[in-house]
Amino acid sequence: MELRFLLDEKAKKLLYASEVISHGHIPEAMLQYPNMFNGPFPALAKISAYARKRQMYFGKLIIEVEGNNADKELLELLEGLDAGKDDDALLGSVKDALVSDLSKYGSGLAANIKEVFGFALPNSVTVVLGQQNEGSGGSMLGADDGEITVGLFTSHETKTEEFFGVLAHEILHGLISLYKPLLRNKKASDLEELLLEYSVPHGILAWRIGLDKKFDTQFSYKNSLRRGYPEEMSMKVKEMVEKYASGNSHTTIWDEIKSAFPDCIDENRIGTLC
Ligand SMILES: [Zn+2]
Repeated sequence: MELRFLLDEKAKKLLYASEVISHGHIPEAMLQYPNMFNGPFPALAKISAYARKRQMYFGKLIIEVEGNNADKELLELLEGLDAGKDDDALLGSVKDALVSDLSKYGSGLAANIKEVFGFALPNSVTVVLGQQNEGSGGSMLGADDGEITVGLFTSHETKTEEFFGVLAHEILHGLISLYKPLLRNKKASDLEELLLEYSVPHGILAWRIGLDKKFDTQFSYKNSLRRGYPEEMSMKVKEMVEKYASGNSHTTIWDEIKSAFPDCIDENRIGTLC
């Protein structure tokens, strides 16, 4: 797997727009009547309406912009959005660290994602890098036709190996979107996040590829509660991942998920993964 970094200004504007819009920070009145307001929100509201109109993932729009295939309307909307200036030296060093971590952990990642989840990594993953004030984070911007696009946010506090784990986490979201083993309902989407919370940047996958020295589910458990996930469900996922980790079975984790959360999985889909 290769990482394809997009440092293009327009791709970055779409990354920031996607993040602000998906966090739901734009008041309804601004979404409906953007022309009445000043500042970045009207531009964001129009981009949000544009993405909805085209029923597109931001990842898809980013690929269009990057391939010079974006329509005039989108280019004009992006023209009207000022995304400020990032610390290019910081983004450059983070990019180098990700490339070097990929050469260190990449083959382990591919092998373990195959063993644990039954997924094959795509040939390349598109990454748009942005900056945030504190900590680090990521979001999966779209997975379609075997292509995964992720956004990653770094800060001066970012620990590089953990950041590679954040990348792996978003790639896993992308693979779940591509392989579709889970149903589309609230419980299944909570399960997806919890399963990944116990996988990487901390959890079974991080431990198996050597990002974490030990398998510490307590960290993931506390983090899941801090993030507001239901305690009972988190505990059930914790026990399930621990059981899978302690066994020496040669099946994927979907077997365990099938017995623990039968109402969240698509049996036909996981048939090919177990
Ligand atoms: Zn996630």
